[in-house]
Amino acid sequence: MSDIKCMCEECSYNESKKCSADSIEVKSNGDRKVESSTQTRCSTFEPRETKM
Ligand code: SF4
Repeated sequence: MSDIKCMCEECSYNESKKCSADSIEVKSNGDRKVESSTQTRCSTFEPRETKM
């Protein structure tokens, strides 16, 4: 498991606030110049399956 702390527990890769993906890809949140972490996003995010 990677050593990536992540608070996005809605992601299927998230296990107890740690990322279980072998690798992740982080991109800009838009097409503007990135100047802070709030302008980035994890594009590896996969929503958990909703149980009906
Ligand atoms: S894939 Fe991205 S959003 Fe999902 S747990 Fe890992 S770091 Fe968080």
